[in-house]
Amino acid sequence: MGDVNTLLFIASDVRSGSTLLDQLLGAHKQIQSVGELHHLDSHIKRKGPGWSWGWKCSCGDNIDTCPFWFKIQTEIKQRGVLDWTEITTCSSKDPNVLKGVFLSILALTVPSHTIRRWLMGLLYNLEEELQTAIVRNEIVTCAFNVSGCHLVVDSSKNPNVLMGYTLLTPRPRLKVIHLIRDGRAVSFSKNRRHHSRTTYSLIGFMRGITSWLYKNSSILAVLKEIPAPQKLEIRYEDLCVAPRRELKKICVFLNIPYSDTMSQIDRIGRHNIGGSPSRFDISACDIRLDIRWSQNLRTLQKTIYALLVGWFGRQFGYPVWYSFTKDRFQADINKNNDSSNRK
Ligand SMILES: [Zn+2]
Repeated sequence: MGDVNTLLFIASDVRSGSTLLDQLLGAHKQIQSVGELHHLDSHIKRKGPGWSWGWKCSCGDNIDTCPFWFKIQTEIKQRGVLDWTEITTCSSKDPNVLKGVFLSILALTVPSHTIRRWLMGLLYNLEEELQTAIVRNEIVTCAFNVSGCHLVVDSSKNPNVLMGYTLLTPRPRLKVIHLIRDGRAVSFSKNRRHHSRTTYSLIGFMRGITSWLYKNSSILAVLKEIPAPQKLEIRYEDLCVAPRRELKKICVFLNIPYSDTMSQIDRIGRHNIGGSPSRFDISACDIRLDIRWSQNLRTLQKTIYALLVGWFGRQFGYPVWYSFTKDRFQADINKNNDSSNRK
C-alpha cells in the first residue's frame, strides 16, 4: 500500500485526454486531484487563462468560496511560507514550436545529463521553472494535509512544469503518467476546437502535428531525469477502449488497489481546476473513443503526417499510414472483455 506522499503528474499534449484521466483517477478515494495546478494563480488573481473556466473550480464555486480550496488557502496562511494572493504557479509561455522541436529532440538523443539539462535550459527558463515548482510543491503539500490522501494529482500536462518538479531539492516523491494520443487526432481536435473554419486547413494541421511532436518529445526528454519505476506510458485510445484494464495497470503502478469507482465519471464533489470544459458537465457520460479525425482528415493531411512525424508516432504503436478504425478498437474491447471474464 502506498503510504508515502506521492505527487502524480500527468504529462501530455493538449487534447490528449488528460482531463478524462484526471477525473478517473480523482474518483479513487485514495487519490486527490487538484487539476492543472499551474493555472491556480490565474484563478486567484482573476487574470489570464483562468478566464476560460470562469475562475471556477470543478465544484462550480470560485476558488475563494470552494470548500476545498478555502482549506488549502487557510493551510497556506498557517504555514506562512507563501502569500496566497501573490503566488505564481505558472512560468512564462512556451517557446517557439520549431525551436521546441529542434532542442527537445536534440535533448532526447543526448546521453549526457549535463548537456541535456543545458539544452533544456535553452528551451525553458530553468530558474523560473524552479521558483514556480517551489510554490506548486507547497500547495501539493497542503493538498496532502487537507485531503488526507497520499496521492495528489497535478494534471498541468506541460513538460516545463514537470521539469520544474525535477529541479526541486529535495525532489518530492514523484510519479509520472505520460498520456499520449495519435498526433493526427490531436491536431484535428486542436484545429476543430480553436478555428472551426480552419479544421481542414493544411497549415493548421501542420502546426498541430508539429506542436504535438514538440510537446511529446520534450516530455520524453524530461522523463529521462526520472527512474523507470516512477513513470508509465498510457495511450488515450487504450484508456477509452479498455478503461478498466488501463486503470488497473495505473493502480499497480501507483501501488494502490483498483476501485470500481474509477471507471465511472461522477463529477460531483470534484475540486480540480483547468482542463477541458467537459469537467463542468455533471450529467452522466460514457468514456468514448473519438475517432472523427480518421473519417474527416484528407488524404493529403494523412500523407503529411506520415512523412513528417509518422516515425515519432510509430514508437508509441501508432501506425504511420493506417487509420484507427472502430472495428479495430471493438476487437480490442472484445479481447479485453474475454480476458476479464476468464479471471
Ligand atoms: Zn471546489
